[in-house]
Amino acid sequence: MVARQDLTTDEDLKAQLLRVRRGTAFWSRKVNELTDDELDGPSLLPGWSRRHVIAHVGYNARALTRLVQWATTGVETPMYSSPQARNQEIAYGATLPARALRHLNDHASVSLNVEWRDTPDEAWGHEVRTAQGRTVPLTETLWMRSREVWIHAVDLDNGARFSDVPREVLSRLLSDIVGNWAAKNTDPGLRIQVTGAPELGELGAGAGQDSARTVRGDLPAVAQWASGRGGHRLEAGADLENPRWI
Ligand code: ZN
Repeated sequence: MVARQDLTTDEDLKAQLLRVRRGTAFWSRKVNELTDDELDGPSLLPGWSRRHVIAHVGYNARALTRLVQWATTGVETPMYSSPQARNQEIAYGATLPARALRHLNDHASVSLNVEWRDTPDEAWGHEVRTAQGRTVPLTETLWMRSREVWIHAVDLDNGARFSDVPREVLSRLLSDIVGNWAAKNTDPGLRIQVTGAPELGELGAGAGQDSARTVRGDLPAVAQWASGRGGHRLEAGADLENPRWI
């Protein structure tokens, strides 16, 4: 008999699974709103058409599925065999006929969901390695997929905005980005103020310093700018370049 509900009994994990499924549903809705001809149009990512974005999200779901299988079987299966292989796969996927590209997206999404659903409690803490070389517990794949589906839905450029993204996703994204700046030492001393989110405090290497160059805006505007997708919605600092984070 096949389980029709999540194997985990952990309430927090169940809530995270529900959230990632909502994000995936949003992503798939934005893909389905595009006609086949519109797939050929540009995305918000330089050099990438919408086809590239959809191929990337589909192959990324397959790569995450490999991490779930790694955690549940103990047999090491990396996300990608190499960065070149990842890029070649995306370039190839972007050339697929529209039906095949949509099938890739749908099938990869369903497979990943089934793997998560059938993952027993003890495997969620098993460690796997991301494409960037970070060692993380399997639970991290829930966040990795959430981040991909929400940001890339905006990148499709057919109506999704950062203001559509749940605040919990935006705030984790922002803290990941600021953390990467600190780790890579790429923040030139910015003072970042997120209006309407006092719980975040001031962020950036220049936090709390009156003389620091200031970036200010609401959470969607700051997350959009910090992720490299334009500062035009900021109240202050729109002319400042976002530090590199990947
Ligand atoms: Zn991505």
